[in-house]
Amino acid sequence: MANYQPQRGTYDAYYEDALNIEKIEHTLHEVALTYGYFPIHTPIYESTDLFTRSAGESSDIVTKEMFDFQDKGGRNISLRPEVTAGVMRAVVTNKLYATKDLPLKLQYCGPSFRYERPSAGRYRQFNQFGVEQVGVNNAYEDAETIILGVDALHKIGFNKVILKINSIGDQASRDAYRDALKDYFNDKIDKMCPDCQRRYQVNPLRILDCKVKEDQEFVKDAPKMGDYLNDVSKERFASVLRLLDDNNIEYQLDDTLVRGLDYYSHVVFEFHYISDNGTNLGAIGAGGHYDNLVKEVGGPELSSVGFAFGIERLNSLLKEISPETYAKDELDAYIVYLGVENKDIAFDFAHTLRKNNVKVDLSLQDKSMKASLKIALRKNAKYMIVIGEDEVKNNLYQLKYLINQQQVAMSKEDIVNKLKK
Ligand code: AMP
Repeated sequence: MANYQPQRGTYDAYYEDALNIEKIEHTLHEVALTYGYFPIHTPIYESTDLFTRSAGESSDIVTKEMFDFQDKGGRNISLRPEVTAGVMRAVVTNKLYATKDLPLKLQYCGPSFRYERPSAGRYRQFNQFGVEQVGVNNAYEDAETIILGVDALHKIGFNKVILKINSIGDQASRDAYRDALKDYFNDKIDKMCPDCQRRYQVNPLRILDCKVKEDQEFVKDAPKMGDYLNDVSKERFASVLRLLDDNNIEYQLDDTLVRGLDYYSHVVFEFHYISDNGTNLGAIGAGGHYDNLVKEVGGPELSSVGFAFGIERLNSLLKEISPETYAKDELDAYIVYLGVENKDIAFDFAHTLRKNNVKVDLSLQDKSMKASLKIALRKNAKYMIVIGEDEVKNNLYQLKYLINQQQVAMSKEDIVNKLKK
């Protein structure tokens, strides 16, 4: 039997939710523009190689969560599990590093796909907004990216953002730390989960990301990254923190934060938000500095910094914490005409209002006054405009304020002037 059920981990957004998702995306887009980030659009599918190379063979994303398939030409394709790799591929394909000023400042928004176990705030298709700065060479650029993230969250309506931050240092620091972790876990790894045993072989830093409860006992006393940062890395991290301090950005140092992807170096960070009711959807956004990704995908050696927000997490938290700013599916006005002979006038009136940016609707199905009023209320219209024979004759239309049912008679021109934006 045919199966028309929605796929597990997917959702439909409509009306109020869809409106707010678009509003959030618009705000993010506008804030990033004020920091000089221009949009980039890249495909939602790329060669599987791109993601295995960039996210790292040992990452959960690659080992467990990719939507892989072969196309009809036998190519190995994956739906993107995150957008950064595709953006870096596009930077290389289009030689943006050679034709545009560095650092490139790019912003994106669109779906990503991960074959995860669906739960609150966790979908298999979800939307990410993110920024990437490519060709960076100093701590100011890292700090600017983080400040943009906090600023954007404030502008959406999140006033108590928790910024967790850590440095995983340069390659030399990470090599030293990796050795220390191997030593530490050497006599414990047999008792840990199979994923950690795999991580131990490929990338022991990943063990710190483990969510298995029994493993936490071992993880909590593991060596700390901070103790293995060399002087260059320490100085770099201190500069980022100083810039955040100078700009009144609060943060929490978190030395367990290593991030799930292989390509990071130096500063890594996550944005969290816990509502007054205690709702915590995990990270609402995350990012960091990375050194090798452009080169890994065939370009020159360029360092980058960026982050991604999860739109669904932002949306559901915002709905809870700020119902007053949550956009409603409402209309400025609903037009009702009495008698088909007034239909053309109503039709024209609606267009005049729309040309003046008034959100207006009308039923074009010759409804009665009573039915129209019901619809206007259900559509959350602020005003109703009544067009009947007398109104047309005198150019005086009833403008009814639906909140208190009071009405005034006004000319078409006055109504347009009153409602226009
Ligand atoms: P990541 O690349 O894993 O750091 O993800 C960046 C952001 O995307 C996270 O902070 C989340 O807000 C969001 N995100 C990641 N995975 C999912 C998912 N499965 N469903 C919804 N949002 C997600």
